[in-house]
Amino acid sequence: MNIQSKLPDVGTTIFTVMTGLANEHDAINLSQGFPEFNPHPDLISLVEKYMREGYNQYAPLKGVPVLREKIVQKTEELYGHAYDANKEITLTSGATEALYTVITTVVNPGDEVIIFEPAFDSYMPVVKLCGGKKICLQLKHPDYRIDWDEVKSAITPKTRLMIINSPHNPTGAVLTQQDMASLIDVVKDTDVMILSDEVYEHIIFNGTRHESIARYPELVERSFIVSSFGKTYHTTGWKTGYCLAPAPLSKELDRVHQYITFTPNSPIQYAYAEFMEKKEMYLELGAFYQKKREIFLSLIEDSRFKVLPAHGTFFQMLDYSDISDEPDTEFAKRLTIEHGVAAIPPSVFYSNSEDYKVLRFCFAKKDNTLEKAAERLCRI
Ligand code: PMP
Ligand code: GLN
Repeated sequence: MNIQSKLPDVGTTIFTVMTGLANEHDAINLSQGFPEFNPHPDLISLVEKYMREGYNQYAPLKGVPVLREKIVQKTEELYGHAYDANKEITLTSGATEALYTVITTVVNPGDEVIIFEPAFDSYMPVVKLCGGKKICLQLKHPDYRIDWDEVKSAITPKTRLMIINSPHNPTGAVLTQQDMASLIDVVKDTDVMILSDEVYEHIIFNGTRHESIARYPELVERSFIVSSFGKTYHTTGWKTGYCLAPAPLSKELDRVHQYITFTPNSPIQYAYAEFMEKKEMYLELGAFYQKKREIFLSLIEDSRFKVLPAHGTFFQMLDYSDISDEPDTEFAKRLTIEHGVAAIPPSVFYSNSEDYKVLRFCFAKKDNTLEKAAERLCRI
């Protein structure tokens, strides 16, 4: 039997490829972004508690009420907008499902979708599956800022959606208040909707303010905010995320979501709801990762890698142009196989494979893992 591929140009995601290569060659895996730490033991105990107490059947379509309330409360406390816990939030199977569902809900064949590159690799294929047309704009290397004049000229009557991501994977760039003012300006008097991927909302450095869409009423009305518990609680494998959106948008989202997963698993939702009372767990995460970043950077200070600016996430882009002029995909492979450190080549996050001779390293690792990796990087 032959199948007409809907994604003929798509291979296996780079995260799977690099993690596979790292495992095959017993390399230190700083490629795929996941923490090397276990979740807090209390969070694990809570999952067990709710499982034993019988919270094991389907949660409601939008997610368990107590968790919806906790998220809405946190969003209001931190960013000022009070979403309705009954009508304006949906729990999803990770941010990945939320992203898929938003794009599927909004994009019709022929619609244009503005995407900033380098872009997290799940956005583009979903736009394609929906028959949308990607309009790719580049963030400006090396600090990866958005050129808002470029955005303004890219908007047409067919533009349906713009996808933003701050703090940004893979670059660690964050949007500023000035960026948000420009965003408000470019979308006003248009029908452009916004999908704001805020999964790294709590991993932001030097006390910088996270510019959530929820801070801007002019943007809230046209936006879907996506976030995830995976990054915040060292639980990427639990695959629980959510989407906040005004009631009419959320209602449309649920029409699609109900036939994708219906709802994520119940006991983990109850556990997160109770654990969210420990606010320091998310409020202190930025400082935790800032320290990790400082440790990693000081360990590689004497290497020939050059550090690019970053203000958030658990990723660091390093420029290897003093070491090699190989394409980043080749260098990433060689680094894994010959030097025992795996990283992500960001050219795969560009539709034109733009190659700035940088690699993305994940520093969400134990100090001794970072030490071992740095020792290898310094030898190159
Ligand atoms: N968006 C970005 C920018 C990410 O880096 C990731 C994955 N780490 C996701 C979405 C997906 O999150 P989840 O693991 O909750 O599906
Ligand atoms: N978000 C993680 C990263 O950027 C991995 C996501 C995945 O493996 N699908 O590395």
